[in-house]
Amino acid sequence: MKMKKKTTVKKKKSKASRSKKQKNLCDGCPAICCHDLAMMIEKPKTFGDIDTVSWYLHFDTVSIFIRSKKWYLLIKGKCIYLSDDYKCTIYQDRPDRCRRHHPDECERHGHYHDVVISTPDELLDYLGKKNPLKMKFPKPPHKAKARKIACL
Ligand code: SF4
Ligand code: SF4
Repeated sequence: MKMKKKTTVKKKKSKASRSKKQKNLCDGCPAICCHDLAMMIEKPKTFGDIDTVSWYLHFDTVSIFIRSKKWYLLIKGKCIYLSDDYKCTIYQDRPDRCRRHHPDECERHGHYHDVVISTPDELLDYLGKKNPLKMKFPKPPHKAKARKIACL
């Protein structure tokens, strides 16, 4: 019985100290975590997948990043509830995802990206290097088009 009581006190202490540490870690930050929407996607495995992910990268607001072998689509932008002085204007009602975001592993302090891919060419380069079967991937459309024009 005594041991159980001791564990509860210890947990409360560590939660309080974590919350204080988090506040300090966020001081002076321009709310990087409230900018750019990151969504997990499947790693592209087929030509069709690669074509789709390559198409995402045609948009200058989109990039891909890989973290701990998981792939994410990153769409540049800003949360509509972020004020000009980087405060959440719906703090009490913010979504659960925002509540679960911790500064000790965030975009400012953590190791957030293992790889960043910004263009179709970079995607093909990355997959080409990582591809053990040495599959030939389709050329990005602008390259295919340029080759066709050169042949005319
Ligand atoms: S969680 Fe990270 S990115 Fe977000 S405000 Fe705090 S320090 Fe900045
Ligand atoms: S709801 Fe608030 S905490 Fe969540 S992303 Fe928007 S501004 Fe940031």
